[in-house]
Amino acid sequence: MSHAAVLALGSNLGDREQIIRAGIRDIAALPGVVVTGASGLVETPALTLHGIDTDAPTYLNAVLTVRTTLDPHELLHALNGVETEHGRVRNERWGDRTLDIDIIDVDGVVIASDDLTVPHPRAHERAFVLAPWLQIVPDATLPGFGRADALLAATGQTPFDYPAEPLL
Ligand code: ATP
Ligand code: CA
Ligand code: CA
Repeated sequence: MSHAAVLALGSNLGDREQIIRAGIRDIAALPGVVVTGASGLVETPALTLHGIDTDAPTYLNAVLTVRTTLDPHELLHALNGVETEHGRVRNERWGDRTLDIDIIDVDGVVIASDDLTVPHPRAHERAFVLAPWLQIVPDATLPGFGRADALLAATGQTPFDYPAEPLL
């Protein structure tokens, strides 16, 4: 049984582009995971617990589609391992980080467990997730929230495209 998952990567510390590229290579190297699509990079200001922080380093974000034989919890744990490989340290919630990997969607199903909520509970309001996802899946939908293009329009935000060679 294989699953189709949508992953969002973000970085705002260090060489953000190279960290995201290395993270994608590491995800592609996970046993039971095949990367099937990658967006371009988008750049947005840091959103912290105190709102938009124009002094914090800006974020680069990208979205991947993958197929995997891992179940969603196994996938989460494997992705946590990739984050740790890239020096992710968990401090303040929404604090600066080298690499963050969120599971946005798995097979269009709903999962509500202590350590995993799918679809990702904040993806519907995040232009830096919705815009790159729409680049690679124009008819993307979030179960319970609707079409990604309508959700993106509702954010009123347009992330900046960050010029770079293709990620895949
Ligand atoms: P946000 O969730 O708002 O994007 P964050 O990515 O900074 O914030 P983390 O500290 O990376 O939050 O993750 C906190 C916990 O969220 C993780 O330990 C994980 O168990 C849980 N979690 C729940 N649902 C998901 C999901 N869909 N993808 C990734 N982590 C999730
Ligand atoms: Ca996140
Ligand atoms: Ca996360």
